[in-house]
Amino acid sequence: MSAVPVDVAALRAWIGAFAADVAEHQEELTRLDSAIGDADHGANLARGMRAVVAALDSEKPSTAGALLKRTGMTLVSTVGGASGPLYGTFFLRMGTAAGEVETLDAAAFGAALRAGVGGIVARGKAELGDKTMYDALAPAADAYDAAGDDLGAALRAASEAADRGRDATVPLQARKGRASYLGERSVGHQDPGATSSALLLAAAARTLG
Ligand code: ADP
Ligand code: MG
Repeated sequence: MSAVPVDVAALRAWIGAFAADVAEHQEELTRLDSAIGDADHGANLARGMRAVVAALDSEKPSTAGALLKRTGMTLVSTVGGASGPLYGTFFLRMGTAAGEVETLDAAAFGAALRAGVGGIVARGKAELGDKTMYDALAPAADAYDAAGDDLGAALRAASEAADRGRDATVPLQARKGRASYLGERSVGHQDPGATSSALLLAAAARTLG
């Protein structure tokens, strides 16, 4: 069992690290979305995460559930396009699963992660291989669960699985979202949402493990 559970400060650090990573990779995300979408994923998510960081700084939520739900609500209200409601639902469901507690152990964090991924499916109806963020997030949740109850090891396994899932979107033909309008022309490009989701898991491995 991991000795140090995930507390509210650690979750805040995770969200802050993801916001910084999205800002750093904004142009890459935009370039990927310009190939198979409308070139707004980097700007969308960077704007949303700036708003999230500002909201968390002013409100200072005191429980895991409150922090994650504030993150989700802010993304839903500030990010247009597909990814705002999808990431928003991810964090809202994570927050509901986490509950009004100050710490999450490895199992509780895994259950919250799983609930968040379930929210993305409930909202976007993606299946594995549709070339979406789900192709990075679903293997990440599976790897987390398979890794056992050491938080750091589980998060590293999840991040590595997300990276592999992101890379595996390249040869796929998109079946959801804007990229699906391109049909076969979506083949050969990395999915922008899977790319930002891999950043989210990498930030978790750095800050929570
Ligand atoms: P939009 O496509 O509306 O411009 P973004 O560019 O911000 O929104 O986000 C695009 C990403 O959203 C895609 O790369 C894909 O990963 C994800 N996405 C789109 N539709 C779905 C869906 N139905 N389920 C899961 N993810 C989706
Ligand atoms: Mg877009």
